Amino acid sequence: MVAWQIRVHSKSALGMYHTISVSSDGLSVACSCPATDPFCSHIDAVLIANERAMVHSADVEAADAARAATVGKIAVPEGWKATWRRELGWRGLQRRAPNYNPRQSGKPLVCFTGTLPGKTRKQWIAEAKENGWETTDEPSRFTDVLVAADPEGSSAKLRAARSCSTAIVSAEEWQIVMVDGVLA
Ligand SMILES: [Zn+2]
Repeated sequence: MVAWQIRVHSKSALGMYHTISVSSDGLSVACSCPATDPFCSHIDAVLIANERAMVHSADVEAADAARAATVGKIAVPEGWKATWRRELGWRGLQRRAPNYNPRQSGKPLVCFTGTLPGKTRKQWIAEAKENGWETTDEPSRFTDVLVAADPEGSSAKLRAARSCSTAIVSAEEWQIVMVDGVLA
């Protein structure tokens, strides 16, 4: 017995939907799309990866309930390639323009990473703003300084900062840079 029907946006045809039908025991899952395999990107995205951007807004609750019923019960075919992950529009994501500048003004831009001592992240950000800085959570080539709990670490933010030749300073050094803009 079909317990849930979930309309999922077609990746290619705007305004078109495919419908996933799920039985109440979660053991029977089918999609109306022409994919020949019993598994498809609609099922993968909605019931395995738990994405909702492509679900009809009226069916989001059904999708949540169907996912809860099917967890661990849907076999992902061997060799399955989730190429839909690159369909950013379908996933409700937008690619930023290559020259996107997160800076809102002419102020210098600082990013924080790791657990910095003595203050909460919120306090670090507030203090930077008081001293004339803008803050970002995503280092890019527009970031002037990355303040790192471990400047020698290898987190994604640190790697991004290095690849953009961004200055990386410790929390201690930041206290000087924040005010003077340079290291003494
Ligand atoms: Zn499908």
